[in-house]
Amino acid sequence: MPMYEYHCPRCGARFERIVSFTQADQVDCPECGTVKAQRKVSKVALRTAEGSSSATACAPSGGA
Ligand SMILES: [Zn+2]
Repeated sequence: MPMYEYHCPRCGARFERIVSFTQADQVDCPECGTVKAQRKVSKVALRTAEGSSSATACAPSGGA
């Protein structure tokens, strides 16, 4: 599930939540409890294939 960053317009708290897409707009503020927390950035926690390209050339060890 993606992680979103929220900003509460009521108390100004900023927090992150890992929610599903259906609940992305229904996050309550942990500080004041308002449900009007606005989603700031859709920060998807996905780090795939960003540097692991040429590190698989393993030398065949063990000569029988
Ligand atoms: Zn708040």
